[in-house]
Formats: sequence, structure tokens, C-alpha cells
Amino acid sequence: MRKAAVRGLLLAVLGCGPAVAAESTGAADAEKERIRMIVQEVVREYAASLGSKQAPPGARAVLQNVVQDNQKFMRSHKPDYFKPFADGQHPRATVVTCADSRVHSHAFDATPDGDLFMIRNIGNQIATAEGSVEYGVRHLRTPVLLVVGHSSCGAIKAAAGDYSRESGPIRRELDTLQVPKGEGGMSGVLLNVHKQVSRAMAKFEPEVLSGALTVVGAVYDFRGELKQGQGKLAIVNVNGETDPKRIAMLEIMQDLDAPPAKSTGRKKNRY
Ligand SMILES: [Zn+2]
Repeated sequence: MRKAAVRGLLLAVLGCGPAVAAESTGAADAEKERIRMIVQEVVREYAASLGSKQAPPGARAVLQNVVQDNQKFMRSHKPDYFKPFADGQHPRATVVTCADSRVHSHAFDATPDGDLFMIRNIGNQIATAEGSVEYGVRHLRTPVLLVVGHSSCGAIKAAAGDYSRESGPIRRELDTLQVPKGEGGMSGVLLNVHKQVSRAMAKFEPEVLSGALTVVGAVYDFRGELKQGQGKLAIVNVNGETDPKRIAMLEIMQDLDAPPAKSTGRKKNRY
């Protein structure tokens, strides 16, 4: 559809609608909504007609990559692979990570399918995904809620600076981080993880107190800033305990790097 045709159609739509001036506010609102929907549909049709002619550079390569990787995935994963989770999910952890492209679950779970209930947003926050977190903890009953911050977090950096020129939606998601000004580095990342754990513990107090839920805060340190090696998932908070020595003494932390026991411990389905 050409631009002129779109314009003509829009004018026709706007011009041929019934008069609304004398109608009640409700009827006028309904008419406005009707026109808005039609305009939206026309714009959508126009955008679709542009096809790949106006696709941003590199978009085709991305799609090609997506399609080919999916084909490879399908070839290497037979129907048996999907059987354990095709009819339902029983994840063992609700995970809140940053949406950052450098943070992915394969850094801490080699087989995350059906195992991790993943929630991602800027700044790995509870506030902007509360319903999703609640779903993981209360409906799926995961015994662990894991909050994962990371080195070089752009959201923390932004929240610690002046973000007044960002759009409303971005500002709102940075507002809830409440990072102190000037704390844009690892110190801010750690502060935020601790804050998210506190928030989760307050929200899920009954589950934590009954022992049904353990809230864990961690930092995925792909820069090695914590001096524990690049790629380390450093556990920095367990149910509010932030002292590394005391964390190390907690029962839940014992022998975590030992080979898994056969009867318990690791998940049943190692796909
Ligand atoms: Zn981030």
C-alpha cells in the first residue's frame, strides 16, 4: 500500500464517521476508540506492506540466525527430550535476572528446560515483575527464589546517575531500583541484589519462615570484579545473611561443589 493510498484511506475513515458532537460522552469515546482501531489497522497494514525493504541493517541476518539455530535445535532434540515437560512444568527455582544480553541461565544451569522459571527485566527487580515472581513462588512452589545481578549492569549505572531525560516507561523502571547516586558500579549491583532479597523476604515471609522458600541473592561476575574468577556466580545473600563467612557456614551451602548424590540433589531429568 502506498503512502498516498494510506492517507486517502485515513481521511475517508475520519471523514465518513457519524457525527459525535451531540452524542453523549460515552458514545463519543466509543467512536474515538473505533477510529483509533481503524487507524491502527491501516498503519499496521502499511508497515507490513513495506516488508523487508525498510528492515534495519542486519535484521535479516538475525532472523536467519534464529531460524537456522532453531532448525539445528530441532534436529538435535528428539521427541523424548520434550516429554518430561510437554504437559506441565515443575521448575525448582524462580529466577529474577537482569535482561542484559550477557546474562543467561547456561552460566549456572546446564539444562534449564523445565527447571528454571525465568523472569528478566532491567535491574533484576521484584517491583516491576511482582506478579511473575509470585506465580513462580506461590503457584509453581519453587523452593528457591534466586535473584541474579551482574557486573557492568547498565540499569544500575543509569539509576545511579541522572536519568531524567529517559522516557516515562524507562524512568519508572529505574525509579524502583532506588540506587544511591554515584553507586553505579559493583557496589550498586550488590546493594540492589541485597535490596531485592529483602523485598522478596518481606513479600514471601510466610514461605521463608516455614522453610518452604529460600531466597538467594547472587552476582554473575563476567568481568571477574569480585576476584573469584570470570563467569563466577557469587552467592552474596541467603535469606538475608550477607556475611560471606556466615553464608559459608550455612547448612544449605555445604558441599555444593561435591558430586551430586544419586538419590537426591540434582534434578531427575537431565535432558
Ligand atoms: Zn543489568
